[in-house]
Amino acid sequence: MPGFETLAVHAGQPPDPATGAVVPAIHLASTFAQSAVGEHQGYEYSRSGNPTRHALEACVAALEGAAHGSAFASGLAAEDATLRLLDPGDHVIVGDNVYGGTHRLLAQVHARVGIRFTPVRLDDPGAVEAAWQPQTRLVWVETPSNPLMRIADIATLAEVAHRRGGRLVVDNTFATPYLQQPLSLGADVVVHSTTKYLGGHSDVVGGFVATNDRSVGERIAGLQNAVGAVPGPFDCYLVLRGVKTLAVRMERQCANAARVAAMLTEHPAVAAVHYPGLPGHPGHAVAAAQMRDFGGMVSFTVRNGEQAALAVAGATRLFTLAESLGAVESLIEHPHRMTHASVAGSELAVDPSLLRLSVGLETVDDLLADLAQALDAAG
Ligand SMILES: *Cc1c(COP(=O)(O)O)cnc(C)c1O
Repeated sequence: MPGFETLAVHAGQPPDPATGAVVPAIHLASTFAQSAVGEHQGYEYSRSGNPTRHALEACVAALEGAAHGSAFASGLAAEDATLRLLDPGDHVIVGDNVYGGTHRLLAQVHARVGIRFTPVRLDDPGAVEAAWQPQTRLVWVETPSNPLMRIADIATLAEVAHRRGGRLVVDNTFATPYLQQPLSLGADVVVHSTTKYLGGHSDVVGGFVATNDRSVGERIAGLQNAVGAVPGPFDCYLVLRGVKTLAVRMERQCANAARVAAMLTEHPAVAAVHYPGLPGHPGHAVAAAQMRDFGGMVSFTVRNGEQAALAVAGATRLFTLAESLGAVESLIEHPHRMTHASVAGSELAVDPSLLRLSVGLETVDDLLADLAQALDAAG
């Protein structure tokens, strides 16, 4: 079995047999010629199948160790397809600290067709057992979680879900398959927002579903065609291109994030730092066991409350104030008012003094100096 970096560069994309091109073509055709009715070269219509999309699907599936992979127009389209595996009356146990849009998809879209869900702290397997209902079909996990960087034990949750007759879905957007391979730890389905680390350059929106369960894989592929939330060929090309450098980007982003987390723990204006690489983080041991490294995301609270947090977010110069994450440039955001505004006021609301960083590829000393000046000015 080739190594991760080899798969990232080559899986699904051998040189083009017709031309020798070493990069997959961006196939813009919406339809494909048939030599006789029903006789074609594997492609009929680009919603149903497109060569550039297939290259991406083969590549990311290989990185997740999956037999089946389907690319979608966004991470939420991938999540929506996965939730459509359920029937009315079914119940989902979901992390109480997930991407705000995941909660909104459950609460405002799938709840209307009779899917019920219970948010639970997933770093406590006992809480998952306690929330289990006879109709529970899925456990939906994000680890590290967004924005508190809590760690859930994937193998333990898979064991609980399977013993109870359910499936485990892991949103692997924060970790990426370079750091963590949920299917090898027992998860049934992996979903991604490829908008983030897999694309890696803040220039494309996309999603992905990977699985080794044949019936799930076929159903997801069927939904991809039937519902039609497919990514365009150019978007597929951008994600394929991003994935080639995923390993080297992640390695440096993890190193930079570790330095940032260490610096924040020392700063007098900072109250708490959430980074699984810190030995004092409650999920440190589980993260060390199930991840290759601890990721490029860091969050922290400031001592002087929301106004100080807003001031820090407004005072950084190198960290750009913006939503999203996982790309080459460093970003800062205020979850309470930005990414998690849709859960403000609910039991899932996040601390208004919290800030979230996506640590990029800039020179780490420049990143540290930028944070220090912003904290000194605003803290
Ligand atoms: C961004 C994100 C999503 C949603 O993906 P989109 O591509 O924006 O639709 C889902 N999960 C996580 C963890 C994310 O960060």
